[in-house]
Amino acid sequence: MCNPELYGIRQLLYNHIQHLASPPTEGPSRNSDHPERDIETSTKLIQLFDDVLQEEYGREHDSLPLIPRTSQPPTCDFCGANLFLSVFQCMGKCGADEVSHPRNTAPTVCPSCFVEGRTCICGDMSPSRLQSFSTVLEQRNLAAAAVRRLQGSGAGLPHGNTDRLHGK
Ligand SMILES: [Zn+2]
Ligand SMILES: [Zn+2]
Repeated sequence: MCNPELYGIRQLLYNHIQHLASPPTEGPSRNSDHPERDIETSTKLIQLFDDVLQEEYGREHDSLPLIPRTSQPPTCDFCGANLFLSVFQCMGKCGADEVSHPRNTAPTVCPSCFVEGRTCICGDMSPSRLQSFSTVLEQRNLAAAAVRRLQGSGAGLPHGNTDRLHGK
């Protein structure tokens, strides 16, 4: 079953990851009153994000066609989920006329819906990516490094986490 909330959370998580990954901005520092709790929260966040990445990862992900980014994040035509990294898009003729979509907008479904057998009318759907997996992974690693710096010499995130993504 598709879960729209889950997909919204993916992008939200990634926003946090990017925030963690980016160097602190100049200006009045907004030091937290609870640094330990921040580290704990950030660590959990990154671990959650690792689960998302594992779910969205495909071996060939970075070689899939990249869908140009639009101002509006695309949603699944079937369940309405916000799409994050991977989508299935009609490569056939559905985008053109007769269907209930505006011209030039190819029918798009989320991976979960596709796996459940949802497809467009012509059935000619191919996987595409919305963002580069390696870029997203890089942000995740930067965020993890930033949290480790915050922790000082602490026992932080397990280092082997990303290896699981490339293993097998
Ligand atoms: Zn869907
Ligand atoms: Zn189609």
